Amino acid sequence: MTEIQKQRFGVLTKKGQIEVHERPLPKLGDYDILIKHEACNICTTDYTQYLGLREHQGYPMAGGHEDSGFIVEVGEKVNGFSVGDHVALGCPSCGYCDECKKGREGFCKYNDMTVHTTEDGYHGTFGFSDYVVMPARRVVKISKHLPAGEGGFLEPLATVSKGIKIMDTKPGDTVVVIGAGTMGMLNALALRAKAIRVIITEFMPNKIENARKEGLEVIDCNVSDPVEEVKKLTDGEGADAVYVCVGNTVANNQAVEMLKKYYGKILLFAASYPEPKFEISSNVIHYRHIQIFGTTGADLVDFIDSAKLLNSGQVKVTSLLEKKYFDLDHIKDAFEEATVPGNYRVTVRMNDL
Ligand SMILES: [Zn+2]
Ligand SMILES: [Zn+2]
Repeated sequence: MTEIQKQRFGVLTKKGQIEVHERPLPKLGDYDILIKHEACNICTTDYTQYLGLREHQGYPMAGGHEDSGFIVEVGEKVNGFSVGDHVALGCPSCGYCDECKKGREGFCKYNDMTVHTTEDGYHGTFGFSDYVVMPARRVVKISKHLPAGEGGFLEPLATVSKGIKIMDTKPGDTVVVIGAGTMGMLNALALRAKAIRVIITEFMPNKIENARKEGLEVIDCNVSDPVEEVKKLTDGEGADAVYVCVGNTVANNQAVEMLKKYYGKILLFAASYPEPKFEISSNVIHYRHIQIFGTTGADLVDFIDSAKLLNSGQVKVTSLLEKKYFDLDHIKDAFEEATVPGNYRVTVRMNDL
């Protein structure tokens, strides 16, 4: 039996306010796993709530879902996991609702963060905590060699894997990714790992530089018109698909112009607040057979796929992390850092391991 009795965790108590609270550690059930968190990255969802731009999840929000750590104890009936395993978390899901049974755990009817509350009144999944008790069905093994922060990419990379599946993008296809932020880059790297030609567009100088360092074909939107440039790079044909990884009306509209004449596909990967628009004539969709998809979140199968990409090194995320770490007591500074435009993922270190 573990000696650990309490968990300390970061919690958003209102717009612009994040505190460190303490509560008794939930009891380890037969099918649960106790994890000592190493790190949790701050997702856009986390800091847009902090900024008050999207507060639908409610308060007090004990958020953080890009967390990873090491197993300290396993429940009596859990098979296949051992103390010391390096793990990250899949989506919360009940396993028995209709959505779960269809394999759409990301849309589990009983794990909506806006309604899910602990007995002592918290929302969220306690990613920003030193220790956490999780049902084994959520826990995914990751390589011991992944440094702190990189394991936290299990979740965002799972959402990317899901999007690529929805789009049915094939080796040899040419894809334009709009935006070289964390999620744009993650899409680009995962697509490239599947032998897909990727052209990425960006206007922020540090992101352009990083994308070039990663060896990607980059269109600098300060220098050339991205639509014209895509046409040039594809011998006038246009792209098979455009993944829009920024929430922006201009980008949405550009995507249509960048596509090949017939059967092009668009993936609307990003949300943004205030809400962007998508201005397109339905005749254009009709005559050109354009297919438009949306995606958000991920299902358990996508987390397994994501773990394979991370563990094998097929997708390396080192350049998508800010180098500076923050500990739990400085979580407010970490959130401030995460809101700086142009920054990649910011990591909160929960324990020194
Ligand atoms: Zn996230
Ligand atoms: Zn469910």
